[in-house]
Amino acid sequence: MEHIIIIGGGGTGAALAHDLALRGFKVSLFEKGELLSGTTGRHHGLLHSGARYAVHDPTAAQECIAENSILRRIAPQALEQNDGLFVALEETDMAYRRVFVESCRACGISVRQLSAAEALGLEPALNPNLKLALQLPDATMDAWRLPLQFFATAKANGAELHSFAEVRGIHVRSGRVTGVRIFDYKKHREYDVRGDLLVNATGAWAGKICALAGIQVPVQPGPGVMVTVNARLTNMVINRLHPAGEGDIIVPQRKLSALGTSLWLANDPDGIALPRDHIRRIIGLCAQMVPAVKDTPLHSAWCAARPLLGGRKADDPQKISRTFDCYDHKERDNLEGLVSVMGGKATTLRAMAAKTADLICRKTGRDLPCRTAAQKLLHWRLFYQ
Ligand SMILES: Cc1cc2nc3c(=O)[nH]c(=O)nc-3n(C[C@H](O)[C@H](O)[C@H](O)COP(=O)(O)OP(=O)(O)OC[C@H]3O[C@@H](n4cnc5c(N)ncnc54)[C@H](O)[C@@H]3O)c2cc1C
Repeated sequence: MEHIIIIGGGGTGAALAHDLALRGFKVSLFEKGELLSGTTGRHHGLLHSGARYAVHDPTAAQECIAENSILRRIAPQALEQNDGLFVALEETDMAYRRVFVESCRACGISVRQLSAAEALGLEPALNPNLKLALQLPDATMDAWRLPLQFFATAKANGAELHSFAEVRGIHVRSGRVTGVRIFDYKKHREYDVRGDLLVNATGAWAGKICALAGIQVPVQPGPGVMVTVNARLTNMVINRLHPAGEGDIIVPQRKLSALGTSLWLANDPDGIALPRDHIRRIIGLCAQMVPAVKDTPLHSAWCAARPLLGGRKADDPQKISRTFDCYDHKERDNLEGLVSVMGGKATTLRAMAAKTADLICRKTGRDLPCRTAAQKLLHWRLFYQ
């Protein structure tokens, strides 16, 4: 069976290692830092229902709701199945309700309307002046444990996972990728690895990897700031009922509340500085939904970069689609042996892997169906055994 090299140990690489190992491929994955130390280990942990995208990005919304129900079945240990509320505070939020509900239903996302009293009965910390709330199948995921379940299962099925192993070069001979040059940070040495096919699953870094092979991909790093305050203020995920914007989500994470987020476009995913003014802005906006946010001590603030498809062409970065794609660089750039996968969400990691592994099967002439939607994942604790 062919040897597939995956670059990138984030959620996408984890799900792809699992999918390919399950189909019987020999898999070697290389991650330049600790596994999950890129964007995946640092997002705020929403298992999207897709509702946030239903109006302006229905493809991403449908991908999210489909994966939301699959992940509940195959990885329940990494999820808290707590649902989400979209709360209306102003008349403009109320005016948005109709198109929001219609778009959610068109995407297959169930919506239940609650009166203000019903919503406050469920979540007493909400702004008492809210007008109504909509209940949807959002949930809290553990940003580490979910992909660790994919890694644990991939490892049990024979995938080799190398952390602190940076790809510094891509070997090309006669228009074909033949392998990679690795720098091993643990042993401080370089070595070569040969493979039949190379997959670039490096998220916001995908452009840098393609540049090693002299080609370009349409990925745009889109950083955002997240803030946690030192109390769990709600049991459900709380969103603002308005078009996607800043500071409109609160994700309860164990005994903390993670507030998100902002979005700007960057040229380079490395060395992104945290704009300190975003912290106060996010706290102020989230406190409109849950007033106790502003009186709760700050726990931490950090940022990470989304791997956005397309990018600079959009007039409003919030409108850039959160869908994903994978590319066969033979078709795109006349370079055989390289595939890139990028875009998407942590919620859609399994679907991204399935589409990429299907492409790899077509390229290698294998007729091996995807089985990951039905295969329960191993517990994340088994990764460490
Ligand atoms: C602010 C913010 C909030 C978000 N919130 C959510 C959310 O609540 N729910 C949700 O579903 N999604 C969320 N997302 C999106 C989600 O986090 C990303 O879509 C997803 O984590 C991307 O995963 P990935 O594996 O493609 O990329 P990454 O996790 O970034 O993995 C790529 C890996 O490649 C490695 N790499 C790069 N270069 C090399 C090299 N040369 N050699 C070896 N390895 C290399 C990197 O170190 C990195 O670990 C959020 C994103 C942001 C920025």
